[in-house]
Amino acid sequence: MKKKQRIIVIGAGMAGLAAASLLREYGHEVVVLEARDRFGGRIHTFEFGTAAVELGAGWIHGEEGNPVVELAEYVNQPVVPVPAPRLMLYDAAGTALSPQAIEHLEQDFSAFINDMFRVRTGMPPGRALSEARDAALAQVPADSLLRPAIDWLLFSEIELDLAADLEHISLDEWDEDECFPGQDAVLPNGFQAVLRLLADELDIHYRQVVREIVYSAAVVRILTQEKVYECDRVVITVPLGVLQAGHVQFIPALPEEKSAALHRLGMGQFEKLFLRFTDVCWPDDADLFGNLATPRERPFEVFNLSHATGQPVLMILTCGRGARRWHSMETEAAVHEVLLDLRAMWGPALPDPEDFLMTRWGKDPFALGAYSFVPPAARLYDHARLASPVQKRLFFAGEATDRRYPATVHGAMLSGIRAAREAASL
Ligand SMILES: Cc1cc2nc3c(=O)[nH]c(=O)nc-3n(C[C@H](O)[C@H](O)[C@H](O)COP(=O)(O)OP(=O)(O)OC[C@H]3O[C@@H](n4cnc5c(N)ncnc54)[C@H](O)[C@@H]3O)c2cc1C
Repeated sequence: MKKKQRIIVIGAGMAGLAAASLLREYGHEVVVLEARDRFGGRIHTFEFGTAAVELGAGWIHGEEGNPVVELAEYVNQPVVPVPAPRLMLYDAAGTALSPQAIEHLEQDFSAFINDMFRVRTGMPPGRALSEARDAALAQVPADSLLRPAIDWLLFSEIELDLAADLEHISLDEWDEDECFPGQDAVLPNGFQAVLRLLADELDIHYRQVVREIVYSAAVVRILTQEKVYECDRVVITVPLGVLQAGHVQFIPALPEEKSAALHRLGMGQFEKLFLRFTDVCWPDDADLFGNLATPRERPFEVFNLSHATGQPVLMILTCGRGARRWHSMETEAAVHEVLLDLRAMWGPALPDPEDFLMTRWGKDPFALGAYSFVPPAARLYDHARLASPVQKRLFFAGEATDRRYPATVHGAMLSGIRAAREAASL
């Protein structure tokens, strides 16, 4: 082993815990500084009444060969694959579409996506995904049910996945990242349980909000709101949104190329609203619901969590413009608005929920958004620029630094492992 180093890891999310654990295994002296009073970051399992819900990451995307599955197995946590959700869609009259009608719409939607790809080949670089959508939409009759279905499916399958509106997503790069094969999977004991073993073995200093990182060839000095820490190397895993906001100052400033990449990338907005009722008062044999009549400016999809939690709980997801709308509203007002659309699907007798809970990742000072995405002016390679070490002193991890699997828990984990190896070997 090389000389033992004093290494500080900033952030106790997936990336920070993975990096710190590996560095500790290599025999280095490792301290983790975390702004919150808990580990997990954008992984946060929460007791909502008696139902455990995931406020942040909920699914392991692609279970085959996924390092998060390996980690879960290593810490003896069960992993349950989930089949594709059974979808119910409702039209403007509040009528549920038949399974055959949904299947046809999905086939037409696949053809529509192919049209978008065809349109893309003729477009100059630097365009937004919405431009290909608009060009392909010109072929779809204005009065057909396919129009609102396309809107809803684009929202559900692309915008939610990237936590941004099509208007803000790169047409060239939106589907260029990689994924693990296989079904998605969930962790019945909660995502955070998988991280506990890693966190328990580490020296984590909680409530330490890093404000400044002063570095030279000799030493790195890290200033929090109350202390000064010194180390040989630092692994920085704070989210892209926090770096973009300048909440952590670098002295001297980061190299121009890294700083430019940091500001080109986008920090997506994605929020969840949980509603708990006294009883299940929706079709319980479906997992996912969509109302095709919901206005474009406030899109959402609804997951039935009654089977996963054993409780009459719904999870409403929105992103981009929908998330920004929620940010500007009181939670009660957002719940009221969502209930209008739920009653349009399930009838006016749907009672008010007995409790509700809304995430506010976009307003959380230690996240400032949900996960990164590539806007038209950026390149997927900007993730790699963000990852590059500075002066063999500063090392960068976190989902936004992973060129292959950004915006995911497994991307965060792999980035932590990469940064730990760099910090231990450079
Ligand atoms: C609503 C939502 C749903 C998601 N769904 C999924 C999903 O289903 N599947 C999936 O794979 N991914 C999902 N993701 C993405 C996934 O959660 C993240 O990619 C991943 O958890 C990021 O890990 P990280 O270690 O890079 O960052 P984080 O988990 O954010 O860790 C960074 C840590 O740094 C800390 N920090 C911030 N600022 C400071 C500071 N100044 N000083 C000290 N510490 C600081 C933070 O508190 C945090 O603990 C979702 C994310 C959200 C928000």
